[in-house]
Amino acid sequence: MSTTEKLLRLFRVDQQLGGLEGRLGAAQRFLDAQESAYAELQTKQESQNAQLRQLMAHLANVEGDGDVIQKRIDELREKMNSSQNSKEYQALLVEVGKLTADKSVLDEQGLEHMEKCDELRASIQETEAAAAERGKLKKVAKQDRDKRASEIKEKVEALRAEREELVGDVPGNVLTAYEARKVRFEESDEVMAPLVEQNLKRHEFTCGACMMGVPVDLLTALMSGRFSTCTSCGVILYLEEASAEKLTAGKK
Ligand SMILES: [Zn+2]
Repeated sequence: MSTTEKLLRLFRVDQQLGGLEGRLGAAQRFLDAQESAYAELQTKQESQNAQLRQLMAHLANVEGDGDVIQKRIDELREKMNSSQNSKEYQALLVEVGKLTADKSVLDEQGLEHMEKCDELRASIQETEAAAAERGKLKKVAKQDRDKRASEIKEKVEALRAEREELVGDVPGNVLTAYEARKVRFEESDEVMAPLVEQNLKRHEFTCGACMMGVPVDLLTALMSGRFSTCTSCGVILYLEEASAEKLTAGKK
């Protein structure tokens, strides 16, 4: 087995590892998003409940004040009924009139507060429903994350063990070049890329990463399995089996 083939085996294992860990990462990100949306709704609910408590306290104050005034009005009316002279009667009438006006202002305020309380209760219900819905999503997202984590655990361990063995077969300098590229590039197809066939008869191939044409001597090197990188972008090149077979068949 050539150096490039050995490296390619390692690359394939790394691609699988990357794919598995990538899918787990996506599930984790989805769960994080559900959790933060749920927490936001909970905060909203708390603040709405605090607002409602405050409004209800205001309402109780207004109603209490109204009751005090009403009691006073009732007392004054009693006095008016037993009043003996018209001067006193007139004075009581004026006071009752003033208190009745005050009372109606308070009644107005009380009604406004009650309406606001009703509106707030309705939107608290909406928030609660949204939180319940989000809570369900969060639960499913967590199950999915946990399931994926446990599903891939064994596969990841098996692939890591396989990797350990494959690494031992790759010559040190080639491995160093490969690992360096892996650190530099996040996408695996920027670490290693296949040659892409353009015209087999004329031996025209391009780099699978940057699509630039590759010289014939590079093609020859790859056919013999020598470690080769693209002269344009530096990606580590390999020949796919199908291409290699065609090229060999063409030679015969
Ligand atoms: Zn290239």
